Amino acid sequence: MLPLVALVGRPNVGKSTIFNLLTRTRDALVHDQPGVTRDRNYGVCRLDEDNPFLIVDTGGIAGEEEGLAGATARQARAAAGEADLIVFVVDARDGTSALDDEILSWLRKLARPTLLLINKIDGTDEHAVRSEFSRYGFSEMLTVSAAHRQGIDDLVEEIVERMPEEGTAETLDNDPDRIRIAFVGRPNVGKSTLVNRILGEERMIASEVPGTTRDSIAVDLEREGQLYRLIDTAGLRRKARVEEVVEKFSVVKTLRSIEQCQVAVLMLDAHEGVTDQDASVLGAVLDAGRALVIAINKWDGLSEYDKQQAETLLSLKLGFVPWAENVRISALHGSGLRELFKAIHRAHASATHEFSTAEVNKALEVAYEANPPPSIRGHVSKLRYVHPGGSNPPTFIVHGTRLKELPDSYKRYLENFFRKRFKLVGTPVTFLFREGA
Ligand code: GDP
Ligand code: GDP
Repeated sequence: MLPLVALVGRPNVGKSTIFNLLTRTRDALVHDQPGVTRDRNYGVCRLDEDNPFLIVDTGGIAGEEEGLAGATARQARAAAGEADLIVFVVDARDGTSALDDEILSWLRKLARPTLLLINKIDGTDEHAVRSEFSRYGFSEMLTVSAAHRQGIDDLVEEIVERMPEEGTAETLDNDPDRIRIAFVGRPNVGKSTLVNRILGEERMIASEVPGTTRDSIAVDLEREGQLYRLIDTAGLRRKARVEEVVEKFSVVKTLRSIEQCQVAVLMLDAHEGVTDQDASVLGAVLDAGRALVIAINKWDGLSEYDKQQAETLLSLKLGFVPWAENVRISALHGSGLRELFKAIHRAHASATHEFSTAEVNKALEVAYEANPPPSIRGHVSKLRYVHPGGSNPPTFIVHGTRLKELPDSYKRYLENFFRKRFKLVGTPVTFLFREGA
């Protein structure tokens, strides 16, 4: 299960600058898309590829946001109490302050593992700064300059080192024949109705997977001869622990279940279109590189006119993920489930396909001959060869020269060519470019 790290500190010490550095994704081509809104508070740090962790920016400690933003901010602050590690951020220029003292005494009461991070070390006398903050009594202090991206790699290393053992590993034993699905979406789109519908079908053999860590709950089931594992969802939780008072929508749990699944089913409400919160969950799925199926729920009871309106809006808002299949369903009536599961299978098969080096090189050769890279200021990128770089998502590593000059449009051409040739649907596809032979 993805460990949780909380950034805590008074306003203006640089928490959001640090948060942005840690959560920035590598694949700008795929991720900097209009239509994907980023949640300001939550993200996943993948700078150490083998040890991703969840990071929450708890914002100011007071906070008076209203509505859903307020609920998210309250969750963010509550997250500090559940965090595997708290990073207490202070400002080297300001030194210690009354507000820092206050936060420190709050942190002592929380009694979570805590790291003192001194930001804005640029242009200060590091020795003096350290000696000033030494009165806070931390055995170790880390110094960074977020604005100059200094010390961030050491910070990541330090965080990963302090993560609990079981937090860093994949904790559920993953049977390769079992498709791992997470149903994700904002409150009220119908996740628990769908999950209960699926679990309630006859011929279903379902059993709860005992949580190896705190909250991890999954259900294994067999449906028409195929094995599945439904990863912790709102629906499962409500069924499993009725008495538990949980916020109806937990960002942390959503991000964790996305991380653990192979196929994320993003549920939308046909009546509501794609809201900002939907877009934020979608962004999290894309960041994680997960296979994706979009289930448009509550399709029942829509007039023909409403259906047309909904179709137009959805195609507009989801146009930037053309590879994701959309399925219209009614969780309430159980319609569209067969189509939904077919789409899940296609996405899973595409995401987990193992490619041979020969077949991907043939594809590159054909793509190159049909349409070689354009000449940019008299220079032409050369693509020498490609080899498969892993699955889920399918990754292709292209070697060549002058690859920095390869335009985004050409990268998109390659992606589309590979998608078509290998019939890849429902999964992102990653191309990495390596200079030299
Ligand atoms: P937050 O309120 O804690 O989230 O703080 P922000 O990330 O918004 O940063 C507050 C201000 O400090 C911004 O103007 C940043 O540009 C600046 N800042 C952040 N990190 C550094 C740093 O390492 N050095 C300097 N000199 N300024 C920084
Ligand atoms: P969750 O918060 O995403 O788990 O959503 P719920 O499953 O609790 O559903 C929220 C509301 O939407 C409930 O009142 C459901 O009865 C209703 N609902 C769920 N699925 C459907 C559907 O397919 N059609 C209609 N008309 N209502 C639905």
